[in-house]
Amino acid sequence: MRLEPGEEGIVQVVFDLPRRSVNLLGRDLLRQLDRILELVAAQETARGVLFRSAKPRMFIAGMDVDEIAAARDGFEASEGARTGQRVFQKIAELPIPTACAIGGPCLGGGLELALACTIRVASDGPSVEIGLPEVQLGIVPGFGGTQRLPRLVGLGPALDLILTGRRLDGRRALRIGLVDRVVPEAYLERETIALLREVAARGGRPPSRRGRPAWTRLLERVGPLRRLVLARARKRTAARVSPEAYPAPFRALDAVEAAFALPLAQGLDLEARIVGELLSTRTAANLIWIFRSQGALKKDPAGIEAPPRRVRRVAVVGAGIMGGGIAQLVADRDVPVRLKDIRQEALLAALRTARGVWEERVRRGRLLERELRQKMGFISTTLDDTGLSKVDLVLEAVVEKLEVKQQVLAAVEERIGERAVFATNTSSIPISEIAGRALRPERVVGLHFFNPVHRMPLVEVIAGQRSSPEAVATVRAFAIELGKTPVLVRDSPGFLVNRILTAYINEAMRLLGEGVSVEAVDAAMTAFGMPVGPLALLDQVGLDTALHVGRVLEAAFGKRIGGGGPLLAAMVDSGRLGAKSGRGFFRYRDGRRAGPDREVYRLVEAAAARALPAETLQERMVLAMVNEAAVCLEDGVVREPRDVDLAMVLGTGFPPFRGGPLRYADALGIAVVCDRLSRLADAHGERFRPASLLREMVRQERTFHP
Ligand code: NAD
Repeated sequence: MRLEPGEEGIVQVVFDLPRRSVNLLGRDLLRQLDRILELVAAQETARGVLFRSAKPRMFIAGMDVDEIAAARDGFEASEGARTGQRVFQKIAELPIPTACAIGGPCLGGGLELALACTIRVASDGPSVEIGLPEVQLGIVPGFGGTQRLPRLVGLGPALDLILTGRRLDGRRALRIGLVDRVVPEAYLERETIALLREVAARGGRPPSRRGRPAWTRLLERVGPLRRLVLARARKRTAARVSPEAYPAPFRALDAVEAAFALPLAQGLDLEARIVGELLSTRTAANLIWIFRSQGALKKDPAGIEAPPRRVRRVAVVGAGIMGGGIAQLVADRDVPVRLKDIRQEALLAALRTARGVWEERVRRGRLLERELRQKMGFISTTLDDTGLSKVDLVLEAVVEKLEVKQQVLAAVEERIGERAVFATNTSSIPISEIAGRALRPERVVGLHFFNPVHRMPLVEVIAGQRSSPEAVATVRAFAIELGKTPVLVRDSPGFLVNRILTAYINEAMRLLGEGVSVEAVDAAMTAFGMPVGPLALLDQVGLDTALHVGRVLEAAFGKRIGGGGPLLAAMVDSGRLGAKSGRGFFRYRDGRRAGPDREVYRLVEAAAARALPAETLQERMVLAMVNEAAVCLEDGVVREPRDVDLAMVLGTGFPPFRGGPLRYADALGIAVVCDRLSRLADAHGERFRPASLLREMVRQERTFHP
């Protein structure tokens, strides 16, 4: 950070974190800022202060999460918050007006700094994102955000930003009065200084802001009305998450309430205390761990000793559910993609799907109509193999049949360059088998996406026996470019996620077979925190697909994972394929789930008459996952516990506040897990016998994570 004297008494405080692409706040920087503010206050000729970033398209992307995580206890966390609050209070108390020029990310502590200024100006560029994402880490803004934002923009808009962590572009920020002006990127600094001068000339009075409707002010000022609004917000939040699992939004509501009921100093004190309290929760620890691990995983070359090749052109073969989604994702990064299928309808449907994803973004103001057309222009379609000679990477997503995948590979290999990489999106076939007859098996790699492609952040990258490090590195780097978190997985049946998921889903089906109802099985797992229950999930995936994957896994691992097969097969035989066929475990009307299908119980030959406590059901289904995850580690399917936990959270929605199956096991205690598994094994079968890794860990008193 440096202080630059400007013209006519406007001094500039310039942020530029060395060796980083983003500016982040940390203890050192806050100390420096504190000193600089002392200097500024002492300058008699200063008429205004401009805060800006030396990095283009950047302001401050927030507090360094590593430093947040380093707080040893709640007390230290609260003190950390108070330090930031004190420094920003100094900005607010400067006798001269202050402004910040927001040309890019202005998040968390960055926005809190901006809120302490007299005025804020944002550029109209696409890099601008303004928000308070703290709740996504299980905490609340701690440098005054919960107090200053509501005072500036009002109760409703402040709650919207703080409770969701939503980010706004310049125009949207202007609409709620969060920034005072939006200007073209090229004029950002000039215009901010001009406005700052105007303010200084008026004796420091900020320009009049977009008027909020008078009734909103009334709501805020009249106690009972305000409490009504807050009570409704609490109810809406409670409908989304539970306070036990995710306390942060509920405590954020308390802090915002204080912004209207208490003087600033007391509100700030409450905010700091809440930060300390929340940072000591397991939820915050897990959410922060997930955030940091995602970053670490992307940086960690995963033992691949080769640099990736740059991917400039891509082909996608197979334009079904997955291929269409993948093509959209590639084109979204402005990389030209050649999309091939043998059916014209599939190509047309894929184009429609891609357009749909972008249209949704246009509706939400995240994309311009013109940009949508540009992006559509990156996708070209074909029914033959033309246009493949120049691609660097082929992403194959044809049907899940070994012969078809081998044929496609053979046809493609004739057309593509020698160094082009072929990545297959198989969900269960070993990569080495697909590459079995390849001309250049070293260029064949697995890249397993999850459905829906544009939403699920995980991909599994699978090296076949003969895949070259360069090919694997290229696919991994490209996955990162697509915005995905790539977990490197050994080439083995079901890879990682589907293998653990199959153990879980089979347990769900066994419970059905024992007479537990469809609703009870699913409700137990949504109560645990899964986004959908296992049977609704099966319906989404398609029962035929699940049956196929289940068979592959049963063949490889026997009854430990299998066992749900007969019921699934009966369901498929009776024409129940899940949501796509209108009925599965549930019935579907217009694609919407409409209650369980009673006829299922005839197929199960069980009466749905057994009521077991939700905890009993959860224990069986969750520990089935934990045990299989441990076996996967033993088998070297992934390298470390981190990879398992991230993959399950990002690929299946395993409750983020629990941090993944292995962090959950750590929290229970490995000895407790082993004990419960042994009891389950005695009662229900050998599949529950604890993995030897778990028993070993108990002996050594180890946990999965330090
Ligand atoms: P899909 O049936 O929706 O699409 C497959 C497409 O491939 C069809 O449009 C078909 O016309 C086309 N095709 C068939 N033979 C072809 C050929 N020789 N050349 C070009 N195109 C051909 O299937 P999907 O669900 O998109 O699955 C594709 C792959 O992705 C499979 O390997 C599947 O296991 C895997 N996968 C699917 C999911 C999922 O949830 N659907 C998730 C992860 C991985």
